[in-house]
Amino acid sequence: MVSSAPILIAPDRRLKTRCKPIDEVDDSIRRRLDEMLVTMYEAPGIGLAGPQIGDERRLVVIDVAREGDPPAPMKLVNPEVTWFSDETCLMSEGCLSIPDVYYDVKRPERVKFTYLDETGTEREQEADGLLARCIQHEIDHLNGILFIDHVSMLKRNMALTKMKKLKAQRAGKRTLRD
Ligand code: ZN
Repeated sequence: MVSSAPILIAPDRRLKTRCKPIDEVDDSIRRRLDEMLVTMYEAPGIGLAGPQIGDERRLVVIDVAREGDPPAPMKLVNPEVTWFSDETCLMSEGCLSIPDVYYDVKRPERVKFTYLDETGTEREQEADGLLARCIQHEIDHLNGILFIDHVSMLKRNMALTKMKKLKAQRAGKRTLRD
């Protein structure tokens, strides 16, 4: 039975790191991906990247299946976008590491991306809509970039101030309980 891991909240140095590629997809990587999926579903979210649970390696899990549809988990090792469309679109984004903050972010509408699947096989895929959005957001995490880095400095600072308050609140509760 795989259990979930705590999700880091911004600002955190580990969320600003460029993550290292995986050399070999072995059992420990597969276990980590399963742990990330459990963590993502429990949150709940539609994507999670390694650094969000303090693992500074190029690992991503995604499930953009619609509510009511069967789950469609994706496990991506070393994902890279190989092509961006010229057309961009605006979509509201949030992040498990920046809870309850949503901003419109402009990004390319479609992408092609490569990755290793959980058997270590190289795959290529094209995506649009929510998946294209999610892939770009998660790969950003692997490069130490958060979605609030794509909005104005004013909005970014508002979000970070809110997160600092949230973290202080959570730390306070922990102290009281201990
Ligand atoms: Zn995120």
